[in-house]
Amino acid sequence: MSKSYDFVPFLECKPYNSQDKNYDGVIPIKIRTLTPIHLSFGEYSIDKQNRIFKPFTRINDSLVIPGSSIKGVIRSIAEAISYSCYTPSGQLDRERLPDKRHPNRNSNCIICHMFGTMSHKSKVYFSDSYIREGTSQIIGLPASFPPRPTSLSYHDEEGKYKGHKFYKHGILGIQARGDILYEYVLEDSEFQGQVRFNGLTDEQVQLLCFSLGLSGDIQPKIGFGKGHYYGSISIESEGKWIDKAKEYKEIKNADISGNIAKIIEILNFNNAVKSLE
Ligand SMILES: [Zn+2]
Repeated sequence: MSKSYDFVPFLECKPYNSQDKNYDGVIPIKIRTLTPIHLSFGEYSIDKQNRIFKPFTRINDSLVIPGSSIKGVIRSIAEAISYSCYTPSGQLDRERLPDKRHPNRNSNCIICHMFGTMSHKSKVYFSDSYIREGTSQIIGLPASFPPRPTSLSYHDEEGKYKGHKFYKHGILGIQARGDILYEYVLEDSEFQGQVRFNGLTDEQVQLLCFSLGLSGDIQPKIGFGKGHYYGSISIESEGKWIDKAKEYKEIKNADISGNIAKIIEILNFNNAVKSLE
C-alpha cells in the first residue's frame, strides 16, 4: 500500500526585513469540497438512531469552516515554500530537525511577519467560511492511530526528518469507512469567506495567494481524516489574486522553485491517489 503522505524539504530560516511598499486588501474566497470534509469543535452529539457522532462545526445553525482552521492549513503550505522558521510539534524529536529558529529574538521570518507569533499580531485575517450550497452526512471512519514520527518513513539516511509533511489527495470513492461516526460535508459543496490583509509586501501577497491555491496548481487539505483521503478542497477567487498566485510560482530562486514543484506534485488534485493498492 502506498503512503498517504509525502515531504517537502526544509529550507533554511532567514530573517525578513523587506523595505518594500506595504499593501492592504481583501481576497474573497470560494471553497469547494472535492472529497468529504470534517471539522469539529470537539463535542459529541446523538443522532435520531441514538448513535454518538461528532458534528461538523456550526455557527448559528450554519455549517462553517472556522477561519482559524483555514489559516493553519495555509500557513503550513506557505512555510514549506519560503525561508521560514519551523516549530516542531510535541511528538517530534528536536535532534532530528535542522535548526530553523529565528537567528535572534528581534527578528522574524517572512511567515511570522505575515501570520504572527505569540508576541506579534497577525497581518492576515481569515474569516469563517459559511456554506452556500451542499449537504452533510454522517460517515463512519476507521479508528485512527496517531501519526508515528518515529517510523522509518519519516527519516532520511542520516536519521533526520525529511521535511514538511503533507497528505496526498485521493480520488472520490477510495475514502476508508469504519465504525466511528462523524458528520462530513460532502463533495461538491461550497463555502464562502474572505481573507483580509494589512501591511504585506507584494512578495507576501503572492505567497499568500499561491498558498491558498488560487493559481489552480495546488488544492489544500483540511480537517479530519486526511490520512484516509478525506479533506480535499479547492479555493477560488478573482483574477487579480489569481495573477498574484502565478507570480509567486515564477519566483527566481532555485530553492523555492524546487519546493514549489514538490508541493504541486503532492497537492495537485490531478495527482490524487487512484486506488488503495
Ligand atoms: Zn518565523
